[in-house]
Amino acid sequence: RLHNTIQELKGNIRVFCRIRPVLDTEKKAAASVTDIAYPGIEKNQLELADSTTSSNGTVAIKSYPFTFDRVFQPSATQDECFEEISHLVQSALDGYNVCIFAYGQTGSGKTYTMEGVRGAAEEQTGMIPKTVRQIYKTAEKLKNKNWTYEMEGQFLQIYNETIHDLLGNPNDFGKLKHEIKHEKNGSTIVTDMTTVLLDSPAKVTNLLKKASQNRAVGATNINERSSRSHSVFTLKLNGRNSVTGEVTTGVLNLIDLAGSERLSSSGSTGDRLKETQAINKSLSSLGDVIYALANSKEGSHIPYRNSKLTYLLQNSLGGNSKTLMFVNISPLLTHFNETLCSLRFATKVN
Ligand code: ADP
Ligand code: MG
Repeated sequence: RLHNTIQELKGNIRVFCRIRPVLDTEKKAAASVTDIAYPGIEKNQLELADSTTSSNGTVAIKSYPFTFDRVFQPSATQDECFEEISHLVQSALDGYNVCIFAYGQTGSGKTYTMEGVRGAAEEQTGMIPKTVRQIYKTAEKLKNKNWTYEMEGQFLQIYNETIHDLLGNPNDFGKLKHEIKHEKNGSTIVTDMTTVLLDSPAKVTNLLKKASQNRAVGATNINERSSRSHSVFTLKLNGRNSVTGEVTTGVLNLIDLAGSERLSSSGSTGDRLKETQAINKSLSSLGDVIYALANSKEGSHIPYRNSKLTYLLQNSLGGNSKTLMFVNISPLLTHFNETLCSLRFATKVN
């Protein structure tokens, strides 16, 4: 049944699963570090195994098979992951709108996948820096074909259904009202956002650093955590051919989603309850939108308006845009239930 859902995959939606390695700190800890995810026969398969010991001592193994467009084992490098998404960078240069998501519980490797380890060696950098680097490289080559590109970056965070400009002043978080506007020409504008002209790779490094600092400052201001908000890095690519006069506008969104751990509303109150509800709502809306895009007929209603995130990305989801989702999972037995939930979410959007 699960395999069928993937076969029926329509349109431009791809889902990859990435299993992070067991960390050194976890190896040292007493917690069970048994690997629970096993490679399937094919490199796009994954089997999750759960064993239960009954009172008479017999061990029963229950296995859950999943199929993705690709499964990255813990040994997979950042470059191997990037290799599978680099064609999307070309699509954005060609004028397509692209979304790349990282979905998973807190600690599963979303930020590692998207941003990587800051200040670390090139091989540890994530999809955002690699994407930008690739764009520069390709744009350089396209100069011979009379194309010039201008690249602009924005970085925002959606916390409690409110947009914060991660490149702006953290004191404005929650005070400045950023509005989402969908223009007739198909572009999306968020008002009062800082836009950085990315004319050198160093600008990107600085941008990521600034965003991360602002996130930290914001965290002390209003008691939020990055794991409880979505981070959306947007690259706008404007291409122009000096001979033919042709122009392209592509948008590439790289989204580090809020932690998907199931948060029960029952125990939480006040701000925590509000956060919980906002995350649950936006992640399920995202699932609903992707599901509707893959499964409904052209022209049917897509529920973009149910959350800020889906509304923001309306022009980059659906139509002839391309979507890719990394479902990040932990290899730890202690995270079995969350992992199963993440994989099930993934099969839904598949
Ligand atoms: P999340 O953003 O989903 O909360 P992180 O990306 O912060 O999770 O990852 C949690 C920890 O695991 C971090 O210390 C990170 O460096 C490490 N980690 C995640 N994925 C990998 C990986 N593929 N290889 C090595 N370390 C990883
Ligand atoms: Mg993170």
